[in-house]
Amino acid sequence: MIVAERPVNREAFKTTMSKVWKCKSWIQFSEVGTNKFLIEFNHKQDLQQVISGRPWSFDRWLVCLQPFEGHRSINEVLFHTEVFWVQVFNMPFASMTQEVGTQIAEHLGRVLTVQTDERGIGWGKCMRMRVEVDISKALQRGIFLTFEGKKTWVFFKYERLPNFCFKCGVIKHDQKGCNEASTSKDKLQYGSWMRAPAVNEHEVTRKRYGNETCHQPEEEQPRMEEGKVRDEGQNCQEKPTKENQHSKLPDVDKAETKTENADMLSKFQTVESFQFPI
Ligand SMILES: [Zn+2]
Repeated sequence: MIVAERPVNREAFKTTMSKVWKCKSWIQFSEVGTNKFLIEFNHKQDLQQVISGRPWSFDRWLVCLQPFEGHRSINEVLFHTEVFWVQVFNMPFASMTQEVGTQIAEHLGRVLTVQTDERGIGWGKCMRMRVEVDISKALQRGIFLTFEGKKTWVFFKYERLPNFCFKCGVIKHDQKGCNEASTSKDKLQYGSWMRAPAVNEHEVTRKRYGNETCHQPEEEQPRMEEGKVRDEGQNCQEKPTKENQHSKLPDVDKAETKTENADMLSKFQTVESFQFPI
């Protein structure tokens, strides 16, 4: 479904999406309602690529994808969620962990991935997480994070964020179509600052430099302890040891990404054999 205020140009939508998705085989669109299409993919690989590349947009409006379920009518399919990469800024360094990241992501919606290294640490300009966001509600701008007794406002930026309303924060319309009382521009609660620049996956891979076989005495090894980071904690990214390579923290990133695709594929797979009623 294209989440737009008005009907979009159908032919332009089909042509544009088939180009944007760069499918190896054919895809077929069947119109099932206003701005609603049932899309069949001939190749599972094409479908997988489209699922993992969400969110998509057409003419700057969100293209909300939901799995095909043959026992439902189009009116029973809810287009209330879409998957986004969300960047979380202003987190205290010691809180940039898998555990705290997951707690924040749970505020945003169903958590698919919290991006960290294999030790469960997500240091960087921001923490990045993939979340299924409820698009029927206003986008969340941030939350107060209480960490080690200190309260910090952490704010969210969304990658590939389509049109949304700067007045009330919903994706369904832009501010021109908003029913809320007019607000002066400088008092708007939402804005383009919530758009995060898309991240090149290669830039966020946590490559390590230096000698992998470097040995350090046990007591000098950098580590995280009870949420506190020692000064030498930064060094451990550059001088990995066997011990911290085998951290007990799970590599959720890869595992969850696989789960997302597997989940969605299992739900979408019936599309392949689906025939539209005549
Ligand atoms: Zn609005």
